Amino acid sequence: MAEKVYNFGAGPAMLPEPVMKKIQQEWLDYQGMGVSLIEISHRSKEFIALINEAQALFRELTGLPDNYRILFMHGGARMMFSAIPLNLAERVPSKRCLYVETGNFARLAAEEAELFYPVETIANSAATGYDRIPEIAPEMIDPAAAYLHITSNNTIFGTRWNKFPETSVPLVADMTSELLSRRIDFNKFGVVYAGLQKNLGPSGMAMVIVREDLLGFAAKQTPTLFNFAQCDKDNSLTNTTNTFAIYVIKLVLDWLKEQGGIDAIESLNQKKAARLYEVIDGSDFYRGIAHPEHRSIMNVSFRLASEELDRKFLAEADAIGLYALKGHRNAGGVRASIYNPMPYAGVEKLAVFMEEFERQNR
Ligand SMILES: *Cc1c(COP(=O)(O)O)cnc(C)c1O
Repeated sequence: MAEKVYNFGAGPAMLPEPVMKKIQQEWLDYQGMGVSLIEISHRSKEFIALINEAQALFRELTGLPDNYRILFMHGGARMMFSAIPLNLAERVPSKRCLYVETGNFARLAAEEAELFYPVETIANSAATGYDRIPEIAPEMIDPAAAYLHITSNNTIFGTRWNKFPETSVPLVADMTSELLSRRIDFNKFGVVYAGLQKNLGPSGMAMVIVREDLLGFAAKQTPTLFNFAQCDKDNSLTNTTNTFAIYVIKLVLDWLKEQGGIDAIESLNQKKAARLYEVIDGSDFYRGIAHPEHRSIMNVSFRLASEELDRKFLAEADAIGLYALKGHRNAGGVRASIYNPMPYAGVEKLAVFMEEFERQNR
């Protein structure tokens, strides 16, 4: 490998190098036990200490209020698309679930809820190619509904909510592609969840943050492993959890703390995104997909003048170690996913490449 490779993949995404080195270093001997973390019981005192530490670190870094519980659940974000309605809809007589459709995952979340309960999509930005976050007026939200679901950062199109809707019904957010990338006031939310593989760790699991008073309303037929109250009661160890994933989250949280915490990483994330948007805004050669007021600082999506030029851009980028920049099949073009672990140097290298590519191809 001659050139340093920067991984711009949307997920599973890059992890901090110190985290991977640490995993490698203690792979065969976890904390002097003489066995690997991956071969010890999920009920061992060492693992229980680890899961508790991960939760405590998350609380410390995010300032999560005491009346919120932290769960680790199987199946990634899309499993939560089913778990959310099953756990929350029966709390109210209407059982009505409200969704805002701001992208593919938002649509899939609503479709999943529809398998179980009446769903209303109260706003939708499909007509403009999911390039923005629709305006939500208070009167659009039925106060008798069970919850309002949003996707706080839209990974494919590169938009995000800057201001969250004010509502009396519990607000539920899929934060898969941005949890821990910016300061969030959790008090505004009933439930926040995230698949791990974008900003937190390996794929196949989700972190779920749920306000205590919303526990205990699961539908009778809810599968045991989907039940938030059960998971909370068992401290996420109802059955054998993905011990490795939780170990990685813990190391990622340690790393984040060393970086100065959420506020420090947020300002670095802003600086990284600004560097790329500056190139996009500085010319008509690149066309940003997201409306400037609704841009994500995690996923920067843009197109060139033709699909042929997109392909040339991607091939030349790949050749110099700028890996996995291809846009999602539903958006096309180019997407740079610049999650917490992406160093500024990776973004700078991409920005310089973009400027150079424009000079040679315009
Ligand atoms: C990646 C992603 C998902 C899907 O996550 P899985 O863990 O594969 O189910 C859902 N929502 C958002 C916002 C995503 O970015």
